[in-house]
Formats: sequence, C-alpha cells, structure tokens
Amino acid sequence: MRPVGRFSFQMIDVLVIGGGNAALCAALMAREAGASVLLLEAAPREWRGGNSQHTRNLRCMHEAPQDVLVDAYPEEEFWQDLLKVTGGATDEKLARLAIRASSTCRDWMRRHGVHFQPSLSGTLHLARTNAFFMGGGKALVNAYYRSAEALGVQVRYESPVDAIEVKDGRFVAAWVGSERIEAKACVLAAGGFESNLAWMREAWGQNERGEWPADNFLIRGTRFNQGVLIKAMMDAGADIIGDPSQSHCVAIDARAPLYDGGICTRVDCVSLGVMVNRDALRFYDEGEDFWPKRYAIWGRLVAKQAGQIGYCLIDSKAIGRFMPPVFPGVQAQTLGELAASLGLPTEPFLRTIADFNAACRVGSFDHTVLDDCHTEGLIPAKSHWARPIDTPPFFGYALRPGITFTYLGLKTDEHAAVHFGGVPSANLFVAGEMMAGNVLGQGYTAGVGMSIGTAFGRIAGTQAAAAALQEMAHAAA
Ligand SMILES: Cc1cc2nc3c(=O)[nH]c(=O)nc-3n(C[C@H](O)[C@H](O)[C@H](O)COP(=O)(O)OP(=O)(O)OC[C@H]3O[C@@H](n4cnc5c(N)ncnc54)[C@H](O)[C@@H]3O)c2cc1C
Repeated sequence: MRPVGRFSFQMIDVLVIGGGNAALCAALMAREAGASVLLLEAAPREWRGGNSQHTRNLRCMHEAPQDVLVDAYPEEEFWQDLLKVTGGATDEKLARLAIRASSTCRDWMRRHGVHFQPSLSGTLHLARTNAFFMGGGKALVNAYYRSAEALGVQVRYESPVDAIEVKDGRFVAAWVGSERIEAKACVLAAGGFESNLAWMREAWGQNERGEWPADNFLIRGTRFNQGVLIKAMMDAGADIIGDPSQSHCVAIDARAPLYDGGICTRVDCVSLGVMVNRDALRFYDEGEDFWPKRYAIWGRLVAKQAGQIGYCLIDSKAIGRFMPPVFPGVQAQTLGELAASLGLPTEPFLRTIADFNAACRVGSFDHTVLDDCHTEGLIPAKSHWARPIDTPPFFGYALRPGITFTYLGLKTDEHAAVHFGGVPSANLFVAGEMMAGNVLGQGYTAGVGMSIGTAFGRIAGTQAAAAALQEMAHAAA
C-alpha cells in the first residue's frame, strides 16, 4: 500500500480518467445523468485533448442527406466497410452499436458546442461518409471542456493516474502519485500505448536485419498516451483484446517531430509518383487503388524497409493534384541532383526511374478514376496513374512510419463494462482507444476512431452514473 496523500475531494460519483474525446463524452453524459464527476487529464491544459485534438471528422451513418453530409451512408454499407478493413477481426454487435450511435450523436454534440462543416476538397473524398468538425478536433475538445466545466465537471490537469485499485472486479480508487482518489464508479478513457516508445519497441521486436523498427517510428499524436492504465488493468486481471503490434500507421514526412506532428505531416502524393527505399528500389504498387483506401498501408510498408525509411518521388506534372504538405519537398532540376539531395545512391536511383519510365503505358490520365495508365513488365507494377517521371523540377519526400494509435485494449460489451474472467464489472467502464480493438482488430476506415469513442464514451458515462447513483440508493435504503 502506498502512503496516503491528501484527500482533496469528498467521494465523487464518477471518476473519468483521460482528457480526450471518449473521456469528455463520458464526463458530460455522467454529469447530465446527475452524477458528480471528476476528470483527470495527464496533460497540462495547453496540451489537453490527447489524439482527439488532432482529428478532423467522424464517420456517420445516415439514410438520407443530412446538413453537412451528402447522399446516404446506410448501416449495412458502413458495416461492410468495417468488415472489409478489419478482415473480420471485429465484434459485430459492438460495431453495429457504434455505427447506429453515429447516426444520432451529432445533435447531442452540437448541444455541447461542437460545430460541423462540409468536407474540404482534397480531404480523401469523405463528403458522403464523414462529418467534419469546424475548427478541427482542437475546437471540438475545447467546446467539450467548456461545456463540462459549465455543467460542474471538475477537471484536473497534469494528473496522470499511475495505478488503479480493483477489488473483486470492482473499481475502488485511482492513484496520482501519492494521492488516492476514491469514486463510486470509474471510466477509463486514457488512450492507447502508442506514445510509449519502449513498449512499441517490445511489441514490434527486432527484424531480420537486427534493427528495432520502432526506434524509427514517429508518433502522430499526443505524447501522453503511455498505456499506463492498459498495463495496470492487465496486471489487475482484466480481459484484454487485440494484438500489440497492430496500429493505425501512416507514412509521414520524416521531418515531423517525434510527437504531435498531427495531420499536416501527411504526404499525399504517393499515387502520383513512385516510392523507393534507401537502396533506391521500388517496393510496392503505388497505384493499386484510390489513395483514401491505401494511405494507411504505407506506414507498415515503410516500417518493413531497411532503416524504416521510404522516399516518395514526383515530377512537376503532379503539382497541384494533391494537398500540398506543410513542409516543401526537396526540389531538383535533374534526377541525379534529386538523388544526391535525398542521400540516395545515384546509379540505382537513375536505373529505377529509367526502368519505371520505360515500363509506363500511358493512356488517359485521370486521378479521379482507376485509369488505364499502368506499367508493363515491371515488378512491382504500378497499376494506375503511371506516368514517366521526366518533367523537371523533380520533388522528393523522405517518409517514416507515423503511428496514429494502437489497438491493444480492454475487452468490453454493449454496456462498456471492463471484464474480469468474462464477468463484467459493475462499476468500471472503458471507452475510446482503450477499447477500440473490440471493433478494430486491424485496419482502419477514416473517422471511425471518433465514432467508436463518441458511442462508447457516452455509454460508459451513462453506465458509470447509473452504477454510482444505484450505490447511493443502496446506501440510503
Ligand atoms: C493526427 C491524427 C489524426 C486523426 N484524425 C482522426 C479523424 O479525423 N477522425 C477519427 O475518427 N480519428 C482520428 N484520429 C484517431 C483519433 O484521434 C482517436 O481514435 C480518438 O481521438 C481516440 O480518443 P480517446 O479519447 O480514446 O483518446 P485520446 O484523445 O488520445 O485521449 C486520451 C487521453 O488520456 C490522457 N491520458 C493518458 N494516460 C493517462 C493517465 N495515465 N492518466 C490520466 N490521463 C491519461 C491523455 O492525456 C489524453 O487526454 C486521429 C489521430 C491522430 C493522431
């Protein structure tokens, strides 16, 4: 037992651990249900909001056009999309619950100050399926904090919980350093473990070249998702779901900072050019399918290359056809100069480009369809949008694996309860990335992270309030 610090609070009803979308949804719902709520956020106020502060949209089911969403995106289509990307590694009941909840949550979100806008052009063609937050995830998180505080939710920043006390499957207390905080019920919404580089290293292990791939990963979001509570709950015997090496992983600008580079470090011109590794060799079909369906495979592909680095190369014909990244690419007038500026071996580089150019069979180039521009006799092929890289200036971007979030988490059910040996806890609940692995065993489809977090955050908050208020009723009887 640790020494007990000060008790700064009367026993509160619902303790929410985490400060991103899932935690805020839980806190707001618990408070609306009449519970007293304390939210503990590991980050200081200026960095509050976890990965949620970096988001732009949530995927929404809808049967007909709705405010910012065009056409329809029915439940079955959403479910089939999820089934496809996860390869069946999903719990249908929980997935459908999140899908259905995505059709009704936006009015509630608006009531708490979230505004929506139509999708911007160049945003992966999501106007039908995804509702964009006006001002992005930062504005969403700020709106929720404002609303939570106005409703009387107590918020404490710089309060990383480092241990949880559980007895017979029930939550008893959380520890922040030497301070012990009891509550009648608790919601765990403290994200994945993607920011914990040591754990990522262990999960990815050593490759056949003797490298530790995770040493070259960049984390696209917060530094505060260290997985402390996932570890704590594993130690406490909670049921776990997901593979620690599975995560959403995008190829991002190698110049991005280690943490919090966010959306602007993505480089979206792979399908317009070629990708090579540090030996200047191509390694995958850049034109396999539309970029929105393929952007999330390139992080893992680059992770498998030597040195975990790849180089995206385009010529001036590609300029204006993709959202320009924040950092300009390396520019050169000749391919030899480009190779030198990127630090790539010149001879293999020139050979790779010459072979590619010679293999291109250019038909009618159209980046909006799976066009007929392809390579012939080249391995790997480029199936669409293949045009010779021959028109200066040339541009190159070094890319590294950028981890968005991990999928290892706690097993749960439709009440968002944490399970111990298959038995649901009566007062401990989980939401967001900490349980997303129930729905996303692998793969990803844009915007579903916020759909899951919003659905299960709201359920967890409601259930936690009910559990706390029920306990009070018992005590009074
Ligand atoms: C760059 C980027 C862009 C993205 N864009 C989208 C998008 O447009 N749409 C979409 O659906 N998804 C997107 N995602 C994924 C999305 O961010 C997550 O699915 C979602 O935010 C998860 O919400 P969460 O509340 O579970 O976790 P987070 O928002 O990460 O919140 C976790 C919180 O827990 C806190 N915390 C961690 N450990 C502790 C502890 N021990 N004690 C107390 N607090 C703790 C953290 O500080 C943080 O506040 C994006 C992610 C990134 C990185």
